Amino acid sequence: MKEIVILGSTGSIGTQTLEVIRNNSDMHVKAIAAGNSTDLLFEQAHEFMPELVCVYNKDKAHKLEKQIKDAGLKNISVVSGMNGLIECATVSSADIVVAAVSGMIGIKPVIEAIKSGKDIAFANKETLVTAGHIIMPLVKKYGIKLLPVDSEHSAIFQCINGEHDNKLAKIIITASGGPFRGMKREELKGIKPEDALKHPNWSMGKKITIDSATMVNKGLEVIEAKWLFNTELDNIEVVIQPQSIIHSMVEFEDGAVMAQLGIPDMKLPIQYALCYPERRTLKGEHLDFYKISQITFEKPDIKTFEGLNLAYEAGRTGGSMLTVFNAANEKAVAMFLENKIGFLDISKIIKECMYTHENIANPSLNDILEIEKDVYKFIENRYAK
Ligand code: MG
Repeated sequence: MKEIVILGSTGSIGTQTLEVIRNNSDMHVKAIAAGNSTDLLFEQAHEFMPELVCVYNKDKAHKLEKQIKDAGLKNISVVSGMNGLIECATVSSADIVVAAVSGMIGIKPVIEAIKSGKDIAFANKETLVTAGHIIMPLVKKYGIKLLPVDSEHSAIFQCINGEHDNKLAKIIITASGGPFRGMKREELKGIKPEDALKHPNWSMGKKITIDSATMVNKGLEVIEAKWLFNTELDNIEVVIQPQSIIHSMVEFEDGAVMAQLGIPDMKLPIQYALCYPERRTLKGEHLDFYKISQITFEKPDIKTFEGLNLAYEAGRTGGSMLTVFNAANEKAVAMFLENKIGFLDISKIIKECMYTHENIANPSLNDILEIEKDVYKFIENRYAK
């Protein structure tokens, strides 16, 4: 039996992970954690009977505890806060932790899970973007597997499987271009959250859907790829592939390009990470090349979608600049979703925060968390009036 922990079980990756588990009788849920959605957590606890359930929000944890008790569900403990998240991430006899919380909140639990020897199915790019220099050496030290769940990184991972020490000349990350592909800055001025939340191909959480619309998501993925595959930033290229059929590619030194293709369905990379190196049947639609008829490519428009460029800039600077890039984006996206700022303000705010930051080359975990707070404060003082 594979014992699985899901951090972020009520989000898009979390619920799809549970779907995969539902279809595989040799997988069991050991612990689940979420921020606020207690009703869904209760349903999940009822169906999967984990040992441990964490609600980040403490008041809501009490409510859930009562609900679970009233329903007569025995042997389920409810925990809360960062300590609760860490308790889930390190729970004994779990084999793998699905890190699917959104944002930098995942850093501490992921680090603790690695230290307790768990493999990680990784869907929390913000953690690697800001703390890759801390996490990757720990992965090595504790000998755990860091298995990418992000579709692009899973694709790259699948493309290099069995290639041993063959060097990569290039990583080519594909991007759908999001809902505003082809638009110019003028047209993006009046964009509202509901417009940005309509992604053409992928069904995802709110934050990542906005990140796709600004192309910040692609920038975060470039940096994530740099850490996961130990590559120079400038060997990573982004190509727009609007049909989202090619999930990413690698080029070897002899010019051979390997690509992984499939229907845009996150259950494939999730199941691959949970079963690695085994492949299993996955119900649902498979590719029909007669129906697709064409796959097209474009160069990203980095003048309109500055997020991607800013990510490369932050990535080249490295150190704490990556935390500034990420934290400024997290805050700006939250404010955009609350209708407090415009769509184009997101990249403007990231730029402002980056250009006023004095970089620390090798930030500690504490530095990272402090800088996150400072960036939030800076943006709040300036924009949240
Ligand atoms: Mg992705």
